[in-house]
Amino acid sequence: MDPIKIVPFKKDSGLTHEMKLRLLDKGRQYGISAVIPFSVDSIVVAEWVHLKCRYGCKQYNTNWCCPPATPDPNRVRAILSEYRTGLLLVGSTSCSDFYRNNERKRTVQVRCWKGTVGLERMLFLQGYYKAFSLVGECCALCRKCSYPDDCRFPQEKRPSVESFSIDVIGTLKNLGQSSHVATATHETFNYYGIILME
Ligand code: SF4
Repeated sequence: MDPIKIVPFKKDSGLTHEMKLRLLDKGRQYGISAVIPFSVDSIVVAEWVHLKCRYGCKQYNTNWCCPPATPDPNRVRAILSEYRTGLLLVGSTSCSDFYRNNERKRTVQVRCWKGTVGLERMLFLQGYYKAFSLVGECCALCRKCSYPDDCRFPQEKRPSVESFSIDVIGTLKNLGQSSHVATATHETFNYYGIILME
């Protein structure tokens, strides 16, 4: 797999070099290996992503961070129009349990989730008051989501990237990032989060 590259900013992210280093430093504690500022115009929203959530995913209608609890594609487009810049968070794992639903996989998911929300909090405290996370995969903070009953950790609740109908591979192409769909459990899997910034 190609190494992650930092892409040139199409628009100024407004982040100082020191802040980028601090974000990367904190992110590393949670398995995030790259923090890449980008223009929100690069995000591809597609109806077919929503279709894949509705048909073929067993998380549909079972989790607060997945459809139908999350905004539909038209609402997502309206939300994204209120942002100019975002951060792409990239992590990787060789977890052989990626396609399984067990505690080891959950540990990786929770780590990524907490790291993403933690970086969002850091940005908020630095004055990026609109900062909002979209996290990779579905929320696994609880062994079984309480949906449709009240969320047990509402402060940590965020939509997943996929639930926002974001075509991750198309977006990566726009950002000049290579992507690879891992098909064997011994391969390294990348996971992606997004923080909408300002
Ligand atoms: S924190 Fe728990 S209840 Fe809330 S969305 Fe995540 S898994 Fe569901």
